[in-house]
Amino acid sequence: MKNLKLAALGADKKRTVVQVGNVKIGEDFVVMAGPCGVESEEQMINTAIGVKEAGAHIIRGGAFKPRTSPYAFQGLGLKGLKILAKASEITGLPVITEVVDPRDVSWVCEYVDILQIGARNMQNFTLLREVGKSNKPVLLKRGMYSTLAEWLNCAEYILAEGNPDVILCERGIRTFETYTRNTLDLSIIPAVKECTHLPIIVDPSHGTGKKSLIEQMSIASVAAGADGLEIEVHCDPSSAKSDSDQQLTIDEFKPLMAKLNKTAEFMKSVM
Ligand code: PEP
Ligand code: MN
Repeated sequence: MKNLKLAALGADKKRTVVQVGNVKIGEDFVVMAGPCGVESEEQMINTAIGVKEAGAHIIRGGAFKPRTSPYAFQGLGLKGLKILAKASEITGLPVITEVVDPRDVSWVCEYVDILQIGARNMQNFTLLREVGKSNKPVLLKRGMYSTLAEWLNCAEYILAEGNPDVILCERGIRTFETYTRNTLDLSIIPAVKECTHLPIIVDPSHGTGKKSLIEQMSIASVAAGADGLEIEVHCDPSSAKSDSDQQLTIDEFKPLMAKLNKTAEFMKSVM
């Protein structure tokens, strides 16, 4: 692929492993789980404890929610970050949250372990440069209208600032299909592996928008070579302030984790 200097897969085929705490993304099978948004201390802590018990490796939760409508729940901001830090302390697991404003990057870093760049901000080059200057790993989601080349060039922006820890995340793209929220592009996983050394995970929650489809798309992602998954889980999805239809309960997430671990083990044995 043209223009890629740092993101391109080298002749040695060496792959990047991003280490966060004890978790090695790109080496171990990794699941990030938690609610779409941090809504309250009780909701976040209960969910974090539940997903940890189920076997998740990293806790997610949005403190800044980039919503389609300016009147929809926008996240708790600093209060949400403090709750996330507490969830991390209680569970002993690293936490990931989305950052939407370049001016927030340095202080958000004080509360979380991984910075997420959302689909809507994939090509926000000021934001990419800023997270590239930070010392935290960055999860870069694929924009909903973006090609692989555009996506990898955005990773290049982060790498070019000196931050080597970039994780890619496929979260579905816009097509003519309306039954699903997005079309989860699983063919991008082997394509990514062909072009770059960076790890790739899949978000089947935003990728489908429907909880009934998450299990099979998660398993398919692992079979297609994904290094992990990011899955939305809420202690009470029916009361969620965002993405209520695509968040699993903790009781739904537990058996899924068991199936995913088995799938990951199987894939290791055959690949
Ligand atoms: C999210 O993961 O919270 C999110 C908003 O996802 P995306 O940027 O993929 O829409
Ligand atoms: Mn969401």
